[in-house]
Amino acid sequence: MNEAMILEAEAVGPLQTNAYVVGCARTKKAAVIDPGDEASLLLGLAETHGLVLEQILITHGHVDHVAAVGAVKAATGARVLINDKERMIYETCAVQGRMFGIRVSAPPRPDGGLEDGDVVQVGELRARVIATPGHSPGGVSFHFAEQRVVFVGDTLFQGSIGRTDLPGGSLEQLLMNIHARLMVLPDDTRVLCGHGPATTIGVEKRSNPFVTGMM
Ligand SMILES: [Zn+2]
Repeated sequence: MNEAMILEAEAVGPLQTNAYVVGCARTKKAAVIDPGDEASLLLGLAETHGLVLEQILITHGHVDHVAAVGAVKAATGARVLINDKERMIYETCAVQGRMFGIRVSAPPRPDGGLEDGDVVQVGELRARVIATPGHSPGGVSFHFAEQRVVFVGDTLFQGSIGRTDLPGGSLEQLLMNIHARLMVLPDDTRVLCGHGPATTIGVEKRSNPFVTGMM
């Protein structure tokens, strides 16, 4: 991280999903990535830093990553961005919530898409959208190259990878995307995962059994 980026991480909800508040230190413009629950906590984190939440960036539509999108949007008017292929899963998040015991605010209509190669601007920070489907059909990662941080949702975990047994999942696709699209990032890139601790590309390249098998 560098001083240009304000970053807060919080594990929210019954599945302890990592939600992130990413802010531009100069402009105070901010985005929340994967508001999976506990909207008021996330809004409070932004407020602590004097940040204005303008965007809600969604790595994928599983309920534990989106259950608080409606509440955050209602409070801030932030634009909701999600990949088109992920919309169907996003729209069923209330049904998913009943299965996992997660209370879900009605998912608002997305305000825009997130396609591979898109650049998302958060104040003066820039993130490139990397399509990383496999855990889900329209999953994406957000790469802030200048800050050397990538938010990967449930694509890659410290020492592990996302499950691929949910609708639209594909192990082959997931492994291919991790290999071809994430492991090509600089080794010192911090990997911020949808669950569990952060890691780096270099550490996973050397020690993640799902990755070392492919190198
Ligand atoms: Zn997921």
